[in-house]
Amino acid sequence: SRAYRSDTSIVELGNGTRIGGTEFVIAAGPCAVETATQLGTTAAAVHAAGARILRGGAYKPRTSPFSFQGLGTEGLRLLEAARAQTGLPVVTEVIEPADVEAVAASADIAQVGARNMQNFALLKELGRTRVPVLLKRGISATVDEWLLAAEYLLDGGNTSVILCERGIRSFDPSTRFTLDLSAIPVAKKLSHLPVIVDPSHAAGRVDLVAPLAKAAVGVGADGLIIDVHNDPATAACDAGQALTPEAFATLVNELRPILAAV
Ligand code: PEP
Repeated sequence: SRAYRSDTSIVELGNGTRIGGTEFVIAAGPCAVETATQLGTTAAAVHAAGARILRGGAYKPRTSPFSFQGLGTEGLRLLEAARAQTGLPVVTEVIEPADVEAVAASADIAQVGARNMQNFALLKELGRTRVPVLLKRGISATVDEWLLAAEYLLDGGNTSVILCERGIRSFDPSTRFTLDLSAIPVAKKLSHLPVIVDPSHAAGRVDLVAPLAKAAVGVGADGLIIDVHNDPATAACDAGQALTPEAFATLVNELRPILAAV
């Protein structure tokens, strides 16, 4: 909490990328790792456009058991290859405590998804590692519950924690979730941890990603995590929210003047 630390803690990755403080960092890439070509093409494009971290799910938490569940360890190998190709550090989700060791050994940041925010066994296992953790806010979690979930990681001795607002359940079906913009300044006031925003999973709609990303910058987010796919129409996961590489490059350019103004 702020009682412990008044400045913002900075999460530093192995290659020197820093998240928090005066840094603004964009992670981008496909929702799910599908093939070497899909990941490699997308990784090269987001790197060229200015992303500093590559996102991609190897283990996918899907609402339906009949949906694509991810490539698992093969997905981790493809992410390692994309990192070697681009130099981008990698963020990928871990779903089960049993996979923490493999993800921590492979990825630069382990993501805890919204549905696992209060999976305390998973949090405790990650707390025992020193891999940076991106902790998404649960879809019905209060800010206090989110911050207490982060405490499980910190209490275990893992101090490299990044918070991620990704939208909460509301009564309105216009968007898949409602991006809680107020949660960003609230969390930053209560906590020293960096806070980034996922406009893609919040909206679930490609047309809303850019306006929500801009709003997130405006309210002081420390970064963004954005779904980008080399061919969104064929995406195996959340196709309706993936930006094309061209749309992503346009968005990065449009964010620059907003970043300069805040
Ligand atoms: C994701 O980022 O791939 C994801 C599934 O996000 P969330 O946990 O926010 O739904």
